[in-house]
Amino acid sequence: MADACLFCRIISGEIPGTIVFRDEQATAFRDINPAAPTHILIVPNKHIDSVSALESKDEQLIGHLFSVAGQLAKSEGIDQGGYRLITNTGADAGQTVFHIHVHLIGGQRMKHPTG
Ligand code: 5GP
Ligand code: ZN
Repeated sequence: MADACLFCRIISGEIPGTIVFRDEQATAFRDINPAAPTHILIVPNKHIDSVSALESKDEQLIGHLFSVAGQLAKSEGIDQGGYRLITNTGADAGQTVFHIHVHLIGGQRMKHPTG
């Protein structure tokens, strides 16, 4: 765990978060500034900075994040209407928290790209 990392601190419970899913590998919690009716962040419990820092041994873990996203889309009732998964990577993409995460966004009609 990276001590100063915001998401590591949410995962450990040091900072409160609205946690909607947790297992041995991943945690999901609601985004503090939702961009749509459903906006959940799915993160590995293990600290990884970004996609750029992934190693081949992380492949199963990253697949698991997508699996959790699909389950949460169902439980949020947005799986039929559709939803978007976003992973911003680096400054140009607007990544602000350097603990890799998947945004699950849905519950409204979206344009593409978001800009
Ligand atoms: P990024 O810009 O790195 O792709 O996404 C970071 C996300 O974390 C943003 O959507 C932002 O609203 C969310 N966020 C930032 N600080 C907090 C916080 O303290 N709690 C929660 N739940 N979300 C946060
Ligand atoms: Zn972290």
